[in-house]
Amino acid sequence: MAFKLDKSATAFAEAKRYIPGGVNSPVRSFRGVGGTPPFIAKAAGSHIFDIDGNKYIDYVGSWGPMILGHAHPEVIAELSDALQRGTSYGAPTLLETELARLITEAVPSMELVRFVNSGTEATMSVLRLARAYTQRNKIVKFAGCYHGHHDSLLVKAGSGATTLGVPDSPGVPDTIAGNTITVEYNDAQALTTVFERHGQDIAAVIIEPVPGNMGLILPRPGYLEQVRALTEKYGALLIFDEVMSGFRVAYGGAQELYDITPDLTCLGKVIGGGLPVGAYGGRRDIMEHIAPAGPVYQAGTLSGNPLAMTAGLATLRLIAQNPDFYEKLTSMTTALCAGVQAQALAFGFNFQFHQVGSMFGIFFTDKPVYDYNSAKRSDVGAFNTFFHAMLEQGVYLAPSQFEAAFMSSAHTHTDIGATIAASGNAFARVAEYYRKQKHE
Ligand SMILES: *Cc1c(COP(=O)(O)O)cnc(C)c1O
Repeated sequence: MAFKLDKSATAFAEAKRYIPGGVNSPVRSFRGVGGTPPFIAKAAGSHIFDIDGNKYIDYVGSWGPMILGHAHPEVIAELSDALQRGTSYGAPTLLETELARLITEAVPSMELVRFVNSGTEATMSVLRLARAYTQRNKIVKFAGCYHGHHDSLLVKAGSGATTLGVPDSPGVPDTIAGNTITVEYNDAQALTTVFERHGQDIAAVIIEPVPGNMGLILPRPGYLEQVRALTEKYGALLIFDEVMSGFRVAYGGAQELYDITPDLTCLGKVIGGGLPVGAYGGRRDIMEHIAPAGPVYQAGTLSGNPLAMTAGLATLRLIAQNPDFYEKLTSMTTALCAGVQAQALAFGFNFQFHQVGSMFGIFFTDKPVYDYNSAKRSDVGAFNTFFHAMLEQGVYLAPSQFEAAFMSSAHTHTDIGATIAASGNAFARVAEYYRKQKHE
């Protein structure tokens, strides 16, 4: 049966009548890869199903949260129970304390935790806190690192290692973006230079310790230590944005994996078990500046709501129950990556395969990738060819070269075998793509 997305195409056209671009988050629109985004009808375990009747092995996992797979029976059962008790009270519950306790136990640098409703909200709030605490205004971020879509962080580098902030989007005032300094990831010298020049004005450095929003990038050995040392030297706070890596690369996140203690941490994705959640936390003396303990205002109508807390609690408890959880997830991911890489090598493709735990990705370039500039050397046309070939064979990858992929504990050896086999066919299409490129 030929692969068809007719119903999705109609649904997409209809969605565009009412929603900008037909989607509620841009990358879902398939702008990067072209074609029609499948409209999803349901999901279960390692699979998602679209309204055209296609079934896919899913490596997006709602962009990271679904570490147990979709519609995990125990998570759904607890959510169903919680639903009967009402969906939000705007008043304290035992659930919030319990999830905060689990998080502080897993991530000891987070002595106090505040729940919000998205990763964006977490990073936005944490910057306000960092600025208030240090009484400084400048923020350092890294090119290609994504921390949500609020004004201060919607900035990447122009050219050069140390570009002063130019906004990435119209509507971000220069006065705000001008307080954001962008540096290339993995370049400790560039960060040193920035501190030498602006050290007394820098409130915080915010970093994805395992960047997953320019494709998956690995921190060079010693790099995170250097970032920690520089922030300490200049009295700036180190903020780990672990919205993606938290409870993903290890139970204690990247800070456990690399043994670095940040001052503040942002979480999201996995800790909400598929419901809208974010959190930020860190050193008690800093976090006590947050209202009502302190003067830094931050609030939320639905923050800590019982549904999100329930899904998060169920997810973290299920993970914690299984002592080999991350080991197993990592070895499944390693098997998948090795299998796909072997298929690529059979065509002579020396692409860059990156993996940290259950996060993985391929850059379609034969040159090493370690920052945003090197990531951009990837052949997007080759990726897009691969992406569509995989989709047509029932493998759902993120529709962009510059996104990470995620394994869940619901993925099976059968899924992995099927994905590896599909990748062989997809690389054949990539080989065709390169042949055509040469002739043009
Ligand atoms: C997804 C993500 C965010 C934003 O979270 P939202 O819930 O989409 O607002 C922030 N930082 C990182 C590292 C992320 O991966």
